[in-house]
This record gives sequence, C-alpha cells and structure tokens, in this order.
Amino acid sequence: MTSIDRFHHLGHSPVDPVPGSPAPDQAVRNVQVRRAVARLAAVRRVSLRVRSTRGQEGAEPRVDHYLFEHEGRRELRAVMLTPPGPGPWPAVLVCAGRNATLERVTGLLPPDHPGRDVAAHLTGAGFLTLTLDHGLDRWAEPATLGGRDPGDVLDGTLRLRGGSLLGALAEDAGAALDWLRAHPDVAPGRVGLFGHSMGAAVALHAALLREEPLPLCAASHLGTYETMIGRSLAWNQYVALPSILRHADLPDLYAALAPAPLQIQYGTADGRLDPGDAKTAGERIVSGHDTAEILPLPMGHSTGLAEAADFFTRSLAEPAAATPDVPAARVGFDVRARLDILDLVDDALASGALTLGPRGTRLEALASREIGRGTAAVSSGSSALEIALRIVGVEGRTVLVPANTFFATAASAVRAGARVDFVDMEPDGLGMDPEGLRAALAAHEDVAAVVPVHIAGVVSGSLAEVLAECDRRGVAVVEDAAHALGSSLHGRQAGTFGRLAAFSLYPTKIITSGEGGLLSADGADLRRAAHLRDHGKRSFEENLHDDLGSNWRMSELHAAVGLTHLARLAEVLAERTALAEWYDESLAGVPALTRPAVPAGCASNHYKYLALLPEGVDRAALKQRLRAEGVRLAGEVYDVPLHRQPYFARRFAERSFPHAEAFTSRHICLPLFPGMTRAQQERVVRALRDALS
Ligand SMILES: *Cc1c(COP(=O)(O)O)cnc(C)c1O
Repeated sequence: MTSIDRFHHLGHSPVDPVPGSPAPDQAVRNVQVRRAVARLAAVRRVSLRVRSTRGQEGAEPRVDHYLFEHEGRRELRAVMLTPPGPGPWPAVLVCAGRNATLERVTGLLPPDHPGRDVAAHLTGAGFLTLTLDHGLDRWAEPATLGGRDPGDVLDGTLRLRGGSLLGALAEDAGAALDWLRAHPDVAPGRVGLFGHSMGAAVALHAALLREEPLPLCAASHLGTYETMIGRSLAWNQYVALPSILRHADLPDLYAALAPAPLQIQYGTADGRLDPGDAKTAGERIVSGHDTAEILPLPMGHSTGLAEAADFFTRSLAEPAAATPDVPAARVGFDVRARLDILDLVDDALASGALTLGPRGTRLEALASREIGRGTAAVSSGSSALEIALRIVGVEGRTVLVPANTFFATAASAVRAGARVDFVDMEPDGLGMDPEGLRAALAAHEDVAAVVPVHIAGVVSGSLAEVLAECDRRGVAVVEDAAHALGSSLHGRQAGTFGRLAAFSLYPTKIITSGEGGLLSADGADLRRAAHLRDHGKRSFEENLHDDLGSNWRMSELHAAVGLTHLARLAEVLAERTALAEWYDESLAGVPALTRPAVPAGCASNHYKYLALLPEGVDRAALKQRLRAEGVRLAGEVYDVPLHRQPYFARRFAERSFPHAEAFTSRHICLPLFPGMTRAQQERVVRALRDALS
C-alpha cells in the first residue's frame, strides 16, 4: 500500500495532519504548500526578451503582437491589448485554455466557444491584457506525433529530467508577469492573473510561485486531482505537478493563495468537471481562504466574462498591499540546489554513511581546489579555529586577536587554553593595525599565535606587514577566514596566508552547510586536524586514541548541503559582485555615506557591503527609520568590539581601541543576498537617501 493509499484508507487526505497532532496553523500550511509547489515545479527565474513586436495599425483597442524569447529555450507568442486613451492601466495576464488560439481569445477572430474572447472582454472593461500562447501545437510537426497530444509528449520528455510541462508553462507565465509589471503602460502594483481550464492551472501555479500577492480569476478548473485526472479522464496529466498529492491537492493550492483576492468560476453544465467534486473542492478552498469567491455559473466549460471583469475591477482598484520588506539577508538555495541536496541526503541515508563519508571527502576536495590548499571539513568555524590553535600549541600562552571580530575568534583561543589580548584595527582599513600588533608583541613575551580576520571579506593590504612581523618573531599566524571564502589579495586566496586557516559554513556566511567549517593547512598540520576532529582516534577500525581532540566531525548530511552550495561558488561570487557594483554606482547619489576604501589588489567576495555614516548620525534611529520604509539592514561586523563584550569587559575596562570603537559604532551593512532584485536595491538606496538628507 502506498502512503497515499494508506491515508485514504484511514479516511484522511494526504495533507491531513497525523491523527492526534494539532492542526497546523493555516498560514504555516500555506507557506509549506507553496514551498512544495516550488520544489516540484523546479522553475527557474527567467526573463523575457522581446525578439520582435508588431503593432496593428488603427486598431481600437490597440493591438500589439509580441514574439518573446527566454534564454533561447523556446519562443513565446503573445498579444497585448491596450484600452484607448492615456494609461497607465491595471493589467491582467491571460493564460488561455489548451485549445484556444491567440486570435480567438483576443477577439481578432470571432470566438469559437462561449467566453473564449476573454482578453477582448477584459480590455473592453478597462484592463490592459497580455495573452500568452504557449505554442504547444507548434513545437513539433503533427506528422511526428502519431496522433498523440503534443502536450503529453512534451510533458513526458520534461519529466525525464525532473521537470514538467506545467512547471515550464508556469515559468513562462512568471516571466511574462515580470515583463508586464515593468511595462510603462501598466499601473504599478495593479496586475492580476486570469486562466481558463489548463490556463487556470498555469495561472494558479504562476501565482503560487511568486512572493507578492496577485489577484487570480480561475475558470473551469476545479475539483480534486484524483477525480479530474484519474476518474473523469477529461484532463491531461500535465494540469498537475508530478507527485503533488504527496503534499497538497488542488483545493489546497488555491487556498494557499490567501490572502490574495481569488475568484473561481465553474459551470454547472461543464462536462469536464464532476459537479459534486467541484462543489466540495470549493467548500474546502473557502475553509482555508475565507475571502475566496467560488461561483457556480450556468455554463459549460467556459468563462463568465462579466463576473471576471467585475472581479478584476474590484481587486485591481488599488495597488496590491505593500510589497514585502527587503530582508536583511537570505540563505541562497534555489530550487535546483535544494533538489540536488535532497538527492545527496537520500543517498547518504540509504547508504548508512552518515558522518566522515564520501560527501565530506568530496566537499574537502572541492574546497581545496577553490582555496588552493588542503582542507579538513569540521563541525563549525569555531572548531576549525580551536583545532588550528591547538595544533599551534597555545595553551598557557597569549593569542592576539583583533578588537573587532566575532566573539568566536577570541573564545576559540580561550577554549584552546590561551589568554587573549586584543589589537586595534588599522586606522584606514578593516585589518589589524601593524603598529598595534608591534606594541602587543612587545607587551607580551609569550605570544603563541596571531589571528588576523578578513572582516567583511576584505583581505587587508596591511596583512603583508602583519605576516612579516609574526615571521620575524617566530609567531604562528592562524587566519580567521570565516568571512572570506573566495576572497583574494593579489591573486592569492584567503586561507593560504597563515600557517593554518579557518572558514565557517554557518548559514549567514557566503557558503553554508547549515553548521560546519573548514580548516585549511598543509602536510602534517592537516593530518593532525583530521585526527583531532575525531577524538584523536588512531584509525577507523581501532578504538585507540593517542591525542586529545573532540567530536568536531562534519556529518554527511551537512556535507551534502555544503558540497552543493560550494559547487556554486563562482555563481555566488559573480552575483554578489554585480550587486556590489550596482551599489557602488548608486551610492554616489548619497554623498552622506562614505565607503571604506577596498585595498588595491583585493578581490572581495562582498560578504558584507559596508558604508560609514556621517559623524553624529544615530545608527539605531536610522535603522528604525529604514525599517518603517520596509528596508532592513544586514547585521554589522561588528556593533560591539570584543573588549566591550560582557565576557571580556571587566578585564579590559581600562583599555581602549579607538579605531575599532569608531568603526563598530559608525558603519552599516546594506542588504546584499542571492536573488536580490534591482528593485530591492533601488528601494534600499532610495530609503537611505531620504533618511540621510
Ligand atoms: C562565523 C564566524 C566564526 C565562527 O564560525 P561558526 O561556524 O559559527 O562556528 C568565527 N569567526 C568569525 C569572524 C565569524 O564570522
């Protein structure tokens, strides 16, 4: 019995909670449903390019024929109808049914079916419409299909690679929505979606894949999947995503659009719907989305044109509720990466190798190639630091760390048995001040290690002086490269400067494994690190321990995440660089903000995008003001220097590190994360300009 059968057998639909557990909050459920749809649809964010456009002279409303292409995959035809008179207009993206043609939907030819000319009708009611033709009947010669539905053949082909026709069509519709929203004739924030029959499935999925709420009117597509596809045989399999019933049925998908305005029409004489099934599906939708309108209409497999126009007139009267806030940060796994991770995790679970296995080894090999030095995967950046300092042998001696760094830099030294002292930042950069370092080395005879930190992903130009000074005194350098995976100075990668180096794969870092870290070193140091991370165990077979380490291993499940993410490092760096360069140009328009100079020869990974506030600006008040504008700043690096952290404050009460104090109180970090859009960046810069002028 499959799990779905078992659920039915018990009288539960596949998405009912396990008996006895509390019903999850509907909003949480909706988010889960949307995530499942995103996973199964496996849609990329693509953009449309206009290949050609042709206006129809003298037509009223105005008619424009578009031929789009997106990333060379397929061409997409569309017709835009613009009401007469001056815009901008509220707009509707029209996703037509399987057998509809552009000409009939847009009224260029007389309708061949009641309600077919929905785009013409909506434009007559005052909406700009863009109608898509997915071109299912044009992608293959009929002779090659042997009478099969081209949609079935295409869907079958796409499924071989984990995709689906519905996913591909929703991708088209999503790209068309982006294009439409940016069109100068379209009123900002006033865009809705209409779909009929198969087009309703496309419109529904396109809406589920978006963050902003979009009004949806769906006609003649209502029921439960098993009845529609399995029993009535009136629907092709490609109106549903593969495996969808493991997560949700059609009514749950509609309900998951809440609170966006939703109208669902169905014909009481529609031969393709089961009337009882449609009715109960409608009730189930309303129980999860209480403003949804379910309209049974006296029609066949058709559209109630007046009802649709009325719905959009009401739901597009105002711009959609405020766009979501620009978040401070975001973890960057697109749906392809998530699917790759699931495969690796499944492989690990099936094999039973759950720690110190082949995925960890692959992660190390990939990291070694990126960094240009051997690496050992460990449980965290903090454990990488502690292992490195134990290998150097700092117990009972002094370790020098920057006054401005994360607590873990110093705490790892303390845990390794050292006493820490701090060194100020350089006056005009983010690195360690060589003057301050010389003074600290003079003040302590017993310095075992110095730990420079590449704050914000910037490898300081003063690092050479720090290294030379340590070399002269015979003091080991352990790099804290937690921020700096992928950064370099004069072509040399961060993590290759010190005797050992530590990287963090914590979720806020450039590349993450959930929790995890990497230690980079050479030869005997690297072998010792691998030994220490596994309790100093002599070998896999023997229970003999000849060194005191700890459980600093990385699990195979974490390695699966880290490996998949690290394989995308080049893309991640390219995207961050493009975002940073756009900020560089745009902040020229915000003269109150200055940027710390990036040292010559440093290629930063742009882990943080820093700016310095003018003297006297209250950072907390500024952040609050930006938050009211829907903009969240990223966390500082750092807002409290270590000598002011409660754990150290008493010992360092008499000390001051003026450069670190000035920097920690004056800088801000602009949001910069994978998937950030130009519109979000513009919003950040606008909010900053307003707040600082
Ligand atoms: C994140 C971080 C660490 C610690 O890494 P974890 O993986 O969280 O243990 C150490 N130093 C710096 C500078 C960091 O940013």
